[in-house]
Amino acid sequence: MTQKNTFLTDKKFPFCPGCGHGITINALNKALQELNYDAKDIAVVSDIGCSGLIDPLFATHTIHGLHGRSPALGLGVAMGLAQKKGKKVIAFIGDGGATIGLQHILEAARRNVDMTLIVLNNLLYGMTGGQISGLSTQKFKEIIDFEKDIPPFDLIQLTHASGARFAVRVNAPNKIKDTLKKAIETEGFSIVEAASLCPSYGMKRMNELANVVEAENILEHERPATKIKDAQVKSLLESTPLIEKKYQSDLKERKGILIAGSAGGGAQSVARFLAMAGIYAGLESTMKGEYPITVGTGFSVAEVIFDHQKINFTGLPHPDFFIIVTQDGLIKVSSKLNNNSKIYIDEKLATDEFKAQFPNAITVPFSKMANRKSTALAAVTYVLNQEDIIPIEALKEAVKTHRLKDIFIDVIDGVMAMPSNY
Ligand code: SF4
Repeated sequence: MTQKNTFLTDKKFPFCPGCGHGITINALNKALQELNYDAKDIAVVSDIGCSGLIDPLFATHTIHGLHGRSPALGLGVAMGLAQKKGKKVIAFIGDGGATIGLQHILEAARRNVDMTLIVLNNLLYGMTGGQISGLSTQKFKEIIDFEKDIPPFDLIQLTHASGARFAVRVNAPNKIKDTLKKAIETEGFSIVEAASLCPSYGMKRMNELANVVEAENILEHERPATKIKDAQVKSLLESTPLIEKKYQSDLKERKGILIAGSAGGGAQSVARFLAMAGIYAGLESTMKGEYPITVGTGFSVAEVIFDHQKINFTGLPHPDFFIIVTQDGLIKVSSKLNNNSKIYIDEKLATDEFKAQFPNAITVPFSKMANRKSTALAAVTYVLNQEDIIPIEALKEAVKTHRLKDIFIDVIDGVMAMPSNY
């Protein structure tokens, strides 16, 4: 690691004049220099609020997340870096974010993973107009005469009780740098709650700060940092089997298929089979599903795209084929239907009005081809047999990866055995 002059970019600090956040940022810059870190070995994580404006200020790796989630993001990065020597994750959060994300902080402390969390406690939500937070102190609330009977969370006590190796509250600006150095040097979870003046909504004078933020508190455990073994941080992709090309596709140009069904009807599974089948046929393919949060009811719509080229955008505003198997699905996609797409629809759904609006729609008795759970598979099999997209054998290959493969193969074979004018 080589000493660097600065870990900051040349961007001007975006904070209001006199804002305490700049003091901690400068102190961190100095601490990292004195610890001889290299910028590429530091990941700074932030979230929402005035404290979250720091990303462009640091010339390190930076990650920005949702309000209250920087400890969780930092924890994930720290776990991923656990086998790499000399790296450090430093997460920032405001007192508002710490209130919202308290569980994430306690989780990081409990796991004692090697990272430092800096809590910029200015006693209020600065970005939204100065509302008090769960860390607003009694003394501060007495001054503003609001909720003075409700005590604040003591983050240092809480994180210490949860297992943090090093938990410190610091309220004197000239002590922040050395406190940060000690925290960063700690192997394990360290937290520094730094009092940070907010002149715009909070206190006007620096010397008032010592009176509104509780005196320093340093709590330590001897507990060693949690060691993450390589095996514990395997990539999710490692359990995904590679799909090799086994079949040939006659696809001429990019095609998008939309399958519209109902919850429990297998639309999502079939779309996944279809996408896998595309890869077995040597194509690039994507699959995207949409369904309500209440997954057991309502529509279930899935989109699949095939192409010989890389697919960089998975959106499908104009599907080439609609395969509509239920009323829920029809209602969900009705605004997308048009006469430029080829529409395959269950015969029961194609009312006279529908046929008048979409005279080229092809009506098929999908619901008679298989039971409710397999109608989507039967419909997709039928359409693949009509169109030159991918061979049925590729779909069968994909289906074989499922535990219900025998049932699904029977459905596919059953549809293929039907007369072509069925
Ligand atoms: S509102 Fe307060 S915390 Fe936010 S930048 Fe201004 S002084 Fe700093």
